[in-house]
Amino acid sequence: MNFHVITLFPEVCEVYTSASILGRAQKTEKGKGAKVRGKKMTVKYYNPRDFASDKHHKVDDRPYGGGPGMVMQALPVLKAVEKAMGRKDRKKVKVLMMSPRGTKFDQAYAKKLVTKYDDVVIISGRYEGIDSRVKKILKAEEVSVGDYVLTGGELPALTIIDAVARQIPGVLGTFESLEDERASSGEMYTRPEVLEYQKKKYKVPAVLLGGNHAAIEAWRLKQAKP
Ligand code: SAH
Repeated sequence: MNFHVITLFPEVCEVYTSASILGRAQKTEKGKGAKVRGKKMTVKYYNPRDFASDKHHKVDDRPYGGGPGMVMQALPVLKAVEKAMGRKDRKKVKVLMMSPRGTKFDQAYAKKLVTKYDDVVIISGRYEGIDSRVKKILKAEEVSVGDYVLTGGELPALTIIDAVARQIPGVLGTFESLEDERASSGEMYTRPEVLEYQKKKYKVPAVLLGGNHAAIEAWRLKQAKP
């Protein structure tokens, strides 16, 4: 899977996508012996500012019809998307526009992206949003990460990349992905067995210490139910 993020603040996002599991998924790894694990995904950033034609690299302007704030101009965003798509087969590319009014993003949506597409272009807005002609021209789907308004589409873009990446085969270690498929528990514990904090003792539930796997599984199932 290749992610292409259109953002005025690539440096804010890069830190996140190059760390931990997402970072590892973008590298070829030497496994045991001569085994080499290929890249599972790539993340590239395109800044509309680099595609602005005037010498001040202006990317926003006042809204037609009046109103507060500024609107991101269409052309720099369109050019950035063009660069991201290159000569790719449009059928395999999904273009998403981050918007608080869009389709609600969830786990099923993340799975669908992995199975249907090779490339996902994520357009992140700032200010009051992006000139609506971008959506029309690109036949982009507006996607929301929740019913609240953020100052920009960067966190939504990262949320989507993170959730989708976990669905790509091989991104999570076998163990972690198995854990994901199993009845996962809402509660989890690690050492120490007895935690002392502010003069009180907090114990790990006894069932987890007993080694009775059927009982542990039953307990986890019960915990996972809301
Ligand atoms: N006045 C605008 C809000 C713009 S918020 C409106 O009513 O739509 C600025 C940018 O942040 C948006 O263009 C969008 O890309 C992003 N954004 C904010 N909240 C979001 C959310 N819940 N989900 C996805 N993107 C969001």
